Amino acid sequence: MAWLRTLARSSRSLLSSKPSPWSVSGFHSTATAAGGGGFFSGLGSTEAGKDKPRLVVLGTGWAGCRLMKGIDTKLYDVVCISPRNHMVFTPLLASTCVGTLEFRSVAEPVGRIQPSISSAPGSYFFLARCASIDPDSHTVHCETVTDGSVKDTLEPWKFKVSYDKLVIASGAEASTFGIRGVREHAIFLREVHHAQEIRRKLLLNLMLSDVPGISEEEKRRLLHCVVIGGGPTGVEFSGELSDFIIRDVHERYSHVKDYIHVTLIEANEILSSFDVRLRTYATKQLTKSGVRLVRGIVKDVQPEKIILNDGTEVPYGLLVWSTGVGPSPFISSLQFPKSPGGRIGVDEWLRIPSVQDVFAIGDCSGFLESTGRPVLPALAQVAERQGKYLAGLLNQVCRAGGGHANRAANLELGAPFVYRHLGSMATVGRYKALVDLRQSKEAKGLSLAGFISWFIWRSAYLTRVISWRNRFYVAINWATTFVFGRDISRI
Ligand SMILES: Cc1cc2nc3c(=O)[nH]c(=O)nc-3n(C[C@H](O)[C@H](O)[C@H](O)COP(=O)(O)OP(=O)(O)OC[C@H]3O[C@@H](n4cnc5c(N)ncnc54)[C@H](O)[C@@H]3O)c2cc1C
Repeated sequence: MAWLRTLARSSRSLLSSKPSPWSVSGFHSTATAAGGGGFFSGLGSTEAGKDKPRLVVLGTGWAGCRLMKGIDTKLYDVVCISPRNHMVFTPLLASTCVGTLEFRSVAEPVGRIQPSISSAPGSYFFLARCASIDPDSHTVHCETVTDGSVKDTLEPWKFKVSYDKLVIASGAEASTFGIRGVREHAIFLREVHHAQEIRRKLLLNLMLSDVPGISEEEKRRLLHCVVIGGGPTGVEFSGELSDFIIRDVHERYSHVKDYIHVTLIEANEILSSFDVRLRTYATKQLTKSGVRLVRGIVKDVQPEKIILNDGTEVPYGLLVWSTGVGPSPFISSLQFPKSPGGRIGVDEWLRIPSVQDVFAIGDCSGFLESTGRPVLPALAQVAERQGKYLAGLLNQVCRAGGGHANRAANLELGAPFVYRHLGSMATVGRYKALVDLRQSKEAKGLSLAGFISWFIWRSAYLTRVISWRNRFYVAINWATTFVFGRDISRI
C-alpha cells in the first residue's frame, strides 16, 4: 500500500505543480525594505481581461471556510490569509480537553475545504495575519506567523496582497474585561492549542498531586479546576471535566479522587440564553455531577488563586476563562465604521458601505445601527450562513461582470442577508443535554432536556462535522472512549 500512496502523492504534485506565488503577474519581490528586518513583497493587482479577479479571505474560521467552500473557483482566484491552516469545529472543542475526542477530530485543514488554494495557479494559502488594510489601493498588509501564538519566535516576513474583493472573517477574541492577570494565568478555550494546554495541565496536576511529600492543601489546590463563565462553552467544559473525573480519575487516579473538584463561577445566571426550565435542569445536573456553582465576579487573577469582588480567595490548579468574546485589536485598529459593540459595521449585503469591494462576516462583523437590524450573536450558525450567503453573492457579482476591483458599484445585488435562528444546544455531562429549537425563549416550539437531547446533540454535531474523514474520527473516538475510557497519557 505504501507504493500506492507514494504514486498517488507524486502524480498529485505533478498535476498541481503551480507557480510560486512570488512569480505571478504584478509581483514585486523586494520592492521596499520594511522595518523589523522583513521586506515588503507580495501579489500585485490583477488585470481585467487577462487574470481572474482575486478574492482575498482573512481567516479560516466558520465564516471564512464556508465562504471559500461556496466560491466558484472558475470565477475567482482565492487567496486565504490566516494564522492557522485549519478550521476548528468549535462545538466539539471542549471534548478534546479531557480526551473524549482527539484534537485531530475537530481540526479540518483548509486545503480540504477548498482544494483550489493548494492546487490552482493564482490561488494560495498564506500562514500569516493581516496587520492592516488599505482600501484605496485595494491592498492588505500581512506578516507571517510561525508558531500560532501571539509572540512569534522568528522574525515575521512582511508582504502585501492586492485584492479585487476582500472578505474580513477574522473572528473575535476572548473578553477579559481588563481584569489583571487573566492573560498571564488563565487558559482560554478557543483554539486547538488551548485545548492541548488544558489537557496537559490537567494531567500534570493529577500526577504532581500524587507525588510523595505534597501537602494536603497543595493537593487540593492543584486539583481544583476553576471555570470562569457560565455560558454554553463554560458549562459544556465543566460537564466534560466532571465526566472525566467520575469515570476516569476515580478509576485510574484513585489516590487523589477525593481531592479533585470543579468550580464554575458566573456573575449572573448560567446559560442565560436558555429559558428558566432548561437552566434549572442544567443547574441540577451539574450539581449532581459534583460541579460547584458559585455566583461571583472575578476581580484579580494571581498565579495560584483568584480574588472575587467580595474578597473571597479561590485557589486553583487549572483556570479556564470563557466569558464571551469582543473585537480583536486588529478589528479595533481598522478605520471602518463600527457596529454597536465595536465590530466592523456592515450593511444588509454584508458590505462595508464606506469602501468599495470589502465585506465582513462572522464574529468580527455586526450590522450598522443605520440598518435598523440587531447585531447578531457570535455563533457558528451565524458565521456559517453569512459565509454561504456571501459566496453566492460574490459568484453572482462576478458573473455580472463586477469581479474586478471597483466594477461592482452599480450592480443590483438581489436579496439581502436574513438570519433565522435555528436553536441552541448544550451538553451538561453524564449523557445529558439541553436542546432548544425555538426562535427565542418566548416562542413556541421544541425545547427539551435529558438523554434524548444528548442523543440529538451528538447526532446533530456528527452530521455537521465538515468532512467524512473527521466524521469517522469523531465516531471512532466516541466509541473508543465509551468502551475503554479516555486517554490519560500526557504527550
Ligand atoms: C469552545 C467553543 C464552542 C462553541 N460552540 C458553539 C456552538 O455549539 N454553536 C455555535 O453556534 N457557536 C459556537 N461557538 C461560537 C463559534 O465558534 C463562533 O461564533 C465562530 O467560530 C465564529 O466564526 P468566525 O469565522 O467569525 O471566527 P473564528 O471561527 O474565530 O475564525 C477566525 C479566523 O480568523 C483568523 N484570524 C484572526 N486574526 C486574523 C488576522 N489578523 N488576519 C487573518 N486572519 C486572522 C483566526 O486564526 C481564525 O482562523 C463556540 C465557540 C467556542 C470557542
